[in-house]
Amino acid sequence: MSVRVLKLKLRTVNRGKSDRLAAMQREYAACAQFHLEGIERLQTTNATALHRELYLPAKERFSLPVVNLQRSRDKAIETFRSYLARKAKGKRASVPKFGPGLPMGVGQRALAIVGRTLRLSTEKAREYLWLPIEMDERHAPWVDAVAAGTLKYGASELHRRGKDWYLHLTVYEDVPNTVENGVVYGLDLGVANTAVMSGPDLVKFWSGQAVRHTRNRYQARRKSLQEVKLTGEVRRSKGKESRWMRNLNHQISCQILSEVAKNGGALAIEKLLGIRDRVKLTRKVNRMIHNWAFGELIALLHQKAPRYGVKIVEVDPRHTSQGCSKCGHTEKGNRLRQDRFKCKACGYAVHADLNAARNIANRGALMLGYTSGITGGLTLPGSGNTVPVSREFGDGQASDVEAEGPSGQLMQSHDVTSLSS
Ligand SMILES: [Zn+2]
Repeated sequence: MSVRVLKLKLRTVNRGKSDRLAAMQREYAACAQFHLEGIERLQTTNATALHRELYLPAKERFSLPVVNLQRSRDKAIETFRSYLARKAKGKRASVPKFGPGLPMGVGQRALAIVGRTLRLSTEKAREYLWLPIEMDERHAPWVDAVAAGTLKYGASELHRRGKDWYLHLTVYEDVPNTVENGVVYGLDLGVANTAVMSGPDLVKFWSGQAVRHTRNRYQARRKSLQEVKLTGEVRRSKGKESRWMRNLNHQISCQILSEVAKNGGALAIEKLLGIRDRVKLTRKVNRMIHNWAFGELIALLHQKAPRYGVKIVEVDPRHTSQGCSKCGHTEKGNRLRQDRFKCKACGYAVHADLNAARNIANRGALMLGYTSGITGGLTLPGSGNTVPVSREFGDGQASDVEAEGPSGQLMQSHDVTSLSS
């Protein structure tokens, strides 16, 4: 099971709703503070004991849905415990105190996603606050899955930033581990090729040419519409382009997953979201983070993977294009051109995106504790060592690797999804 937090911007629509939300949040923060003080006074962080002493007075005093009241107690317990832990370690710590801006905890039963709108329970039974979600394309597949009931969600939080409100929605995915034979496929995403997948017995390219062509056409068209001030048309064109891209991403993600599923393998992709140290990222990764089309493709892969019984591992995205997938030697000069890779150390020459896909597969294999991804990569000269996997991404098992992969006999299918329009 993996947990994910989606940060969704809400439209508060009008002043009345916005004020109501602010009032609910203040109430929640006050209730959490009430519990903090209770913990100090009663000298316990035991939930049952606190419930016994504080539940009724809190219910009397604060108008909150009961599940949110429980969230505020849990928040106080958690905060106080981490304060005690710091103190126990001899670190500097002052008694915690919640300000009025504390993000509002929302119990699972106090929220629902209906269509693309958040339905928030209020203190009054069957009286709701409806807050439309300002949909970011990359979140759409997740939100739709929650609304459809196919993706589970849990207690979440509402955060305020200036005038804006965000729902930090916690979702849970059941990912059955059906990796049967230690096979890991690597997927490299990019612009020249939308996707390149490499596995033990296959190489697949999804060319990005048609995608670029079509998106450029949309952009050019919008530019001319803009010039004659047809803003309505511009908006429609944007919608049309997103729908077209979404449809294509659906196709690609299905093709990728069914290929991996055939062999009962796992799929390794680059981790793009939730990376703490952004500074160290390569330009390529940074560009991809800001391109919603990639985010959407990744979200769709995650969303559909359980249906295909495919486990997805996210690997460190750094230097996947500069390292040699055969000997592990990493150097900028290895990459000759956009599409040509030639290792300065061992002379191995291969399509650059394919090399990256193999590196990604190898890192995925390491994270899963397998000896090898696909090719005979990984082994660094002399040491029998492995491609470094940073701690943030989990440290994989270093191990010996088969001597040589079937790099020579790979079938090269140019699987260009044909595009109409
Ligand atoms: Zn090499």
